[in-house]
Amino acid sequence: MSRIAIIRKKAKLRGLLGIRARLVILALILVCPLMFDRVRLLEHTRSSEIAAVAATAATLAQRAADAQREVISSVEAVLKSAAYIHAAAAQVDRSCSILRASLRVDLPSIRMLSIADARGIIHCSTAAMFVGADVSERAYFRRALESHDFVVSDFLIGAQSGKGTILAAYPVSAVDAGEQAVMIAGMNLDWLSDIMANLADRAGVSVALIDGEGTVLATPPDQRSKVGQKLDQATLDFALGANPPQREALAALDGTGRRLSVSRIPGTNSRLLVTLDESVVAAAINREIRTAYLQLALVCVFVLLGALIAAERLIVRPISMLTSTAKRFAEGDWSARAARARLPSEFVPLARAFNAMAAQLGQRERELVAINNNLTVMASMDMLSGLANRRGFQSRLDFEWARGQQTGHCLALLMLDVDHFKPFNDSYGHPEGDACLSRIGEALAGVADETGGFAARYGGEEFCLLLPNTDAAAARDVGELVRATIERLGVPHRTSEFQRVTVSVGVATALPVDTAAPRELLEAADAALYAAKHGGRNTVAEHGLVRGADAPAPMAMAG
Ligand code: GH3
Ligand code: MG
Ligand code: MG
Repeated sequence: MSRIAIIRKKAKLRGLLGIRARLVILALILVCPLMFDRVRLLEHTRSSEIAAVAATAATLAQRAADAQREVISSVEAVLKSAAYIHAAAAQVDRSCSILRASLRVDLPSIRMLSIADARGIIHCSTAAMFVGADVSERAYFRRALESHDFVVSDFLIGAQSGKGTILAAYPVSAVDAGEQAVMIAGMNLDWLSDIMANLADRAGVSVALIDGEGTVLATPPDQRSKVGQKLDQATLDFALGANPPQREALAALDGTGRRLSVSRIPGTNSRLLVTLDESVVAAAINREIRTAYLQLALVCVFVLLGALIAAERLIVRPISMLTSTAKRFAEGDWSARAARARLPSEFVPLARAFNAMAAQLGQRERELVAINNNLTVMASMDMLSGLANRRGFQSRLDFEWARGQQTGHCLALLMLDVDHFKPFNDSYGHPEGDACLSRIGEALAGVADETGGFAARYGGEEFCLLLPNTDAAAARDVGELVRATIERLGVPHRTSEFQRVTVSVGVATALPVDTAAPRELLEAADAALYAAKHGGRNTVAEHGLVRGADAPAPMAMAG
């Protein structure tokens, strides 16, 4: 890339990165870290909230398992002691009444205690409705007989009560080989309803007790409709795969946004399934996060607007105000002043300096103009005679010519030359010659005042008198007046035939027209002066009008 192209690009970039853009970037640099920190905090809050709910669900599932474990061990103890009592009481054939009398009605873990004979017929029970019921087909009964050990049923719906329950069985044969009865206890499942109730009003959390096949056995009251239904395959696979028993598992089901916690009920195939719907749990925090994002966006917009307004008011506007003041200075308007009241305080010293500079430059310019005017006057003045010099005369001639063109009045010009001035100098010396020229200048100024003319020293010992609005006759009269005035001065001149200083005067008059030039009037007056010299000096000669109004007039000499 060429050097010029790089410079151009740099200038363009600088233009883009004006003070506004820079302030906006600065504001963003300040706001962005805060913004990102807030977003990070919100995201962290969301994940910790979900984790907290998940932990609660897991704790509840664990509590369910623990509660059931406690119930089972106490039921096992009761059944074993009941089996001993039965074995002992059977010999006196009062086992049933002894059993009923011995079983405390307020045992927390047992709802009912029954004794089934070897055929599976219940002949004794703490709850009358079970007496006579046949449990021979129940799996737990068979297992108890076969294993001669403590057995816990799966979660099942009681044939008599119609309610979900878990039964425990203990064969009396385990303590007395000769006795074939089986002690059966219905467990108190209040812990289950406690857990269910505890979870029921938690948004996004659902709980279900399922059997070994994945059928829902129990739910909190608000989800009753699910009882008897099968779980969906994905949930089922996960729930049934939670092995070994009582292991807690917490995992996310792909794509569903749900987390499951499974606890196997000890001694059974039932599982307590706690489902956590992340989207519901996170809904509140998501709402908060959305509000926070909105707030952040608003803060950003306000910060950006603030930066732009601040840049405009505090920097750009004062600078453009000072710039326009400086431009007025550049145009020569030194009266311009920067309005300090409308500027931020940081700019006030600059504005004050600006105004002081303007005042000083204005003063200096006025002085320069005055000096210049003086110089202009001095440049057009003849110091010896006190009259205008040739330069001053020339510009006055041009001016009067132009004025004559507008008014249509005649313009007359008298050219004077001191007679025999060289011999004067020779006789009286140069300083005396200067003094003489000075007196002639003074006298000529007097005549100019009288006649409304403009007198000047044309050069050397030559003078002229410009007479605006003067015709030829009047001009000739003034010429005579001038000649006589000088003669009357009576400056002695011993080598002149007139014995005093005299002047010869050439007079020319013209009507200024566009086709003529002031130079022609000058030449005519000079020619007339030449004629006056030739006419014997100390005399006045007149030239005819130079280019009259209608046609060019011939140069005519008048004696
Ligand atoms: P004429 O009558 O034909 O005009 O004769 P003249 O001697 O006046 O004319 P000339 O042109 O020969 O001489 C003019 C003299 O004027 C010559 C010069 O020394 C003198 N002169 C011109 N300017 C000055 C001046 O400023 N001061 C003095 N003292 N003399 C000047
Ligand atoms: Mg001369
Ligand atoms: Mg002369």
